[in-house]
Amino acid sequence: MVYLVGGGAGDPGLLTQAGTAVLKRAAVVVYDALVNPALLDLCPPDTEKIYVGKSAARHTLEQDRINALLVQKARQTAGEIAPTERVVVRLKGGDPYVFGRGGEEAQYLRTQGIHFAVIPGITAGIAGPAYAGIPVTHRDFTRTVTFITGHRKQAADDHEELPDSGLNYESLAALGGTLVFYMGVQALPEITRRLHAAGMAADMPAAVIQWATYPRQRTIVSTLAGLAAAARKAGIQAPAITIIGQVVNLRAELNWFESRPLFGKTVLVTRTRRQAGRLSTRLADLGANVIESPVIELVPPADEFAIDQALAQLNQYDCVVFTSPNGVEAAWRRMGELHLDARAFPRRVAAIGPATAEALRTIGITADLAPDEFIGEKLAAELIERLGDKGDLQGKQFLLLRADIARGELRRELIRAGAVVKDMAIYQTVAPKTLCAEAIEALRNGTVDWITFTSASTATNLHALLPPELRDRVARANRLSIGPITSAALCRLGWPPTVEATRHDIPGMIQALTIQAGSPAPPPPA
Ligand code: SAH
Repeated sequence: MVYLVGGGAGDPGLLTQAGTAVLKRAAVVVYDALVNPALLDLCPPDTEKIYVGKSAARHTLEQDRINALLVQKARQTAGEIAPTERVVVRLKGGDPYVFGRGGEEAQYLRTQGIHFAVIPGITAGIAGPAYAGIPVTHRDFTRTVTFITGHRKQAADDHEELPDSGLNYESLAALGGTLVFYMGVQALPEITRRLHAAGMAADMPAAVIQWATYPRQRTIVSTLAGLAAAARKAGIQAPAITIIGQVVNLRAELNWFESRPLFGKTVLVTRTRRQAGRLSTRLADLGANVIESPVIELVPPADEFAIDQALAQLNQYDCVVFTSPNGVEAAWRRMGELHLDARAFPRRVAAIGPATAEALRTIGITADLAPDEFIGEKLAAELIERLGDKGDLQGKQFLLLRADIARGELRRELIRAGAVVKDMAIYQTVAPKTLCAEAIEALRNGTVDWITFTSASTATNLHALLPPELRDRVARANRLSIGPITSAALCRLGWPPTVEATRHDIPGMIQALTIQAGSPAPPPPA
């Protein structure tokens, strides 16, 4: 079985659910140059990934060889211990049947008796204009949209095709609707000249969108007569979509993507591997190009036996307190391994703040206590008020499940109120072996605008992991700190924060960054 899958125009979110599902069970993925490599991360680790893009000239697989490869892989996969749910995926940018040779590949598969299915994708000619703020149709302006590419003639350059000299420009001009061209900027002078010669007005609005739907998207707006020169001047190169028609004017009103507050900014997110997601998602919502570089890894605590004992006797405590979402996750995972379920929890469960309470909710536990600010003292005060007898916790048994590097206020306050506190590290944090390659490259190139620090250890670990010659790159970028303790750590490293969040959590950081967006990077500290 071969699935011909459209990966969408670039933004990984444009992949369909059906596409996601088959990538998740791909034995083999055969993919092109215009596929966002991030999509390949959906595949299981053992998926064979074969690049057949046309841009790497020397590694180019001719179409015949691609066809043969698909057939060979399909037969191989079918030959495995049946019935297999693993499939061969032919992944293409945009939609497989829109100027993607998907039709030819499907025909060939059929002649070879190979079953195939097609999963459409969002083509660049629709997604690109949409992300540039241009609806391809609009009742006030056009009732037609035409997708055009050059003849099936291979150009020397990348994934480009040469314009079809046989194209009927008169009829295209006469349609009076939206024209969307998939092809290189090199062809622009000829296309625009011939459309004009065929009767299209010289001042017809026109735009070119490069790297559409990616964080590096660029849009040039001009007129039919001015477009080729404007694109050349701006240095527009492949891949790019050209759109010509009255609808282009709507961009002035509808440009949502490029006008988001963090559009064009690269933000390096330093967090634990697990946690990075939330911050990154919100930064991406605001238009940032997010690079996640985990600088903290969570590993089981040194004394796992003691933890196992505590978990097995959980309901003998009056209250168990979690001090981080990671703590909840680590405890729940270990409880699963010990064949314990939610019944093992004591009557009272407390969370240090909203994010930890949320983590508890995902495992079916509603925290009895979760202060809206996650500061140890505050939780202690609330615990004493709720569980104590007039400020007295005499004889009450507490279990604190925390990180190895947690601060001790909570414990001290509870003990002062008379409680018996057992305090355990449910996980420990260690630095990973290296920073991710993408982060190192971006720092080296000086393209990082902001770096986020969500704890003191994100700062110290980044410092430790960074090749020494890149330390001043961090100094030159803007640094966003979650709160005073993290800021102090940054100052000690010679990287004082550019901004500290007023609210010491992820939403607070997002808010601080939104306000700051657009401010230039500070000079490096002396
Ligand atoms: N099957 C693809 C098109 C392949 S032809 C689809 O449906 O989108 C290759 C051309 O598509 C490129 O030369 C360019 O014109 C266009 N294209 C693909 N992805 C693009 C992107 N992210 N931004 C701009 N143009 C893109």
